[in-house]
Amino acid sequence: MVDSYRPKDLKDALSIRAEYNPQPLAGGTDLMVRYQSWSGTLPLFTKSVMFVGHLKEMKYIKKEAKDKTVTLVIGGTATLTDVANHPDTPVVLKEAVLSIAAPALRNNATLTGNICNASPAGDSICALYALDAVIVIEKSGSRREVPITEFITGPGRTILGPDELVTAIKIPLKASSVNDFTKVGTRRANALSKLSFTGVADYKNGRIDSIALTFGAVGPTVVRSVELEKKLIGLSGPELKAMIPKVIDDYSTVIVPIDDQRSTAVYRKKVALNLLEKYLKELSSHE
Ligand SMILES: Cc1cc2nc3c(=O)[nH]c(=O)nc-3n(C[C@H](O)[C@H](O)[C@H](O)COP(=O)(O)OP(=O)(O)OC[C@H]3O[C@@H](n4cnc5c(N)ncnc54)[C@H](O)[C@@H]3O)c2cc1C
Repeated sequence: MVDSYRPKDLKDALSIRAEYNPQPLAGGTDLMVRYQSWSGTLPLFTKSVMFVGHLKEMKYIKKEAKDKTVTLVIGGTATLTDVANHPDTPVVLKEAVLSIAAPALRNNATLTGNICNASPAGDSICALYALDAVIVIEKSGSRREVPITEFITGPGRTILGPDELVTAIKIPLKASSVNDFTKVGTRRANALSKLSFTGVADYKNGRIDSIALTFGAVGPTVVRSVELEKKLIGLSGPELKAMIPKVIDDYSTVIVPIDDQRSTAVYRKKVALNLLEKYLKELSSHE
């Protein structure tokens, strides 16, 4: 039998999740489409659902400072609009969130829902990989924190247990002077990505001090190569400029997309490498 639950608070939600394992439903913008039925009729859920979007304990965005690190903590029911409007949201995440669907949908859809959907084309995910986001997971009586790279294990798959909820997303706020999020879709609004690209980097004393380069919708999960990024650390702008053809060559081996209904592998690879080249050229002209 399919039941629906509306917990009164987070504690209640965690105990319902532990006892009955219903599927969490936040904004419902993925789930209502996944289980849609004929027009004008109720959706056909195949398992029980638990509404979580109204839970006030998770409806926040705040900054936390510990030792020398400042972290942006986004509560599990913060909507995409909340994230886009917050003054401390990193610029690439803001751009990514604003590229999702249209304002009415973003007012209801949550960042957590976009992550838990774990689509390779999920736009926030491409930015969150570059920002080293950490997912906060809770169940009754315990809590764990997992890097997003370990949270998502494949298309539509995560490590979330049937008794757990995502209660927050943590983003370390780092200096980043050259930022780019670009989504390529069939139109500007209400289009899923053919592919996406995120670049964040910073210079210190004229040399690249940090860099993260991620590609969405060109593999089963977001593509990021920390090994290739390490080769760029310490380069000056002119040194990077001279290396761009080699970097493009290196990335052409890690970007291995597929054909699907939204695009072809050949197009995705070519455009992903073009976006990378454009970003690296811009980066090499800053210091
Ligand atoms: C017209 C339209 C356009 C769209 N355009 C885009 C787009 O351009 N880019 C894009 O990336 N996406 C797009 N989407 C997909 C969707 O809107 C986003 O993925 C959205 O962020 C999902 O959030 P939600 O709160 O509605 O998730 P829901 O549908 O409520 O849930 C999605 C998943 O997250 C899980 N979940 C939710 N909250 C929790 C929690 N606290 N703990 C554990 N699991 C949880 C659910 O169980 C489910 O598996 C679009 C959807 C529609 C209908």
